[in-house]
Amino acid sequence: MSPKKQKLKVDLVIPVYNESEVVGQTYADIRRVVDALPYDFKFIYVDDGSNDGTVATLRKIADEDARISLLQLSRNFGHQAALTAGMDASRGDMMISMDADGQHPPEMLPQMIKLIQQGFDIVQAQRLASPDDRSLSFKKVTSNFFYWLINKISGTQVLQGAADFRALSRNALNGLRSMHEYHRFLRGMISWMGYNSVILPYHEPARLAGISKYSAGKMIRLASDAVFSFSLAPLYIGLSSGLAFFVLAIAQLAYVLILWLTGQTERVVAGWSSLMGVLLIASGIIMILLGFIGVYVGYIFQEVKRRPIYLLKGKLPDDGE
Ligand code: UDP
Ligand code: MG
Repeated sequence: MSPKKQKLKVDLVIPVYNESEVVGQTYADIRRVVDALPYDFKFIYVDDGSNDGTVATLRKIADEDARISLLQLSRNFGHQAALTAGMDASRGDMMISMDADGQHPPEMLPQMIKLIQQGFDIVQAQRLASPDDRSLSFKKVTSNFFYWLINKISGTQVLQGAADFRALSRNALNGLRSMHEYHRFLRGMISWMGYNSVILPYHEPARLAGISKYSAGKMIRLASDAVFSFSLAPLYIGLSSGLAFFVLAIAQLAYVLILWLTGQTERVVAGWSSLMGVLLIASGIIMILLGFIGVYVGYIFQEVKRRPIYLLKGKLPDDGE
């Protein structure tokens, strides 16, 4: 520490993908909160291959606010990769990741920072179900099923409703940055790390404008990254169903043997349908399992290639780093 007391450096990592409708407004909202706080803030915007006016808006904002830096990925790599790019660029004493669509209320920032200052390494915001929203949307049902599944089959507990809205101490951020896996499910990776963590519940407001940038395809990819990179349970389905079939086979052998020994051989020529049934079930299970193994082999293949998680095509300010 220099003799002059240095202000705490807080980096805000904000991934954006086609958010031209909201990015100016959410920047102004965040700014209103942080300008009243006695910390040294930096905004790290990560453009995840937007093709609307998002980058132009961010450039304009960056011209007027020296605290803004902008990383441009070479294409759309996805939210988790964009977050990773921003976290890699963070040099502050702590880092807070948040969305650019106004769903992560900046009013929570002071409390998150205080908790890190008190010694927590991870402050995880948890989205609460709104009390007056009883609708059963597709997203809600699938998300509930997903959290139930991942907590059942992976050794890592992932908090229901955990958002990618969280603060990490320098320590925790360094820990996370040492994990280079290609298939990233950050919520799981953070929970896997351990450290002192605290949960901060919040009610999520609606998007300021525009539609969700998490398409169904992107949600499925995230879910499969979570299942296949955090759990070997699908492979064990094979082992247990194989065992079940083995037990059935022994029972059947015993049955036939008893019929032989008791001289009832005419009853041995049993029905065709039961035979077909067993055959179809067994081959169905084998095919599903081969599929699971195929997915794991694919994941391993992508990991061993050691491709970068994202590529940059531009940077503002361009400090040549
Ligand atoms: N996002 C991104 N890349 C993507 C999809 C989304 O950087 O491929 C950003 C998006 O701009 C937003 C955040 O990630 O700032 C969360 O996305 P979104 O709000 O669309 O997800 P939802 O809140 O609907 O789950
Ligand atoms: Mg959102």
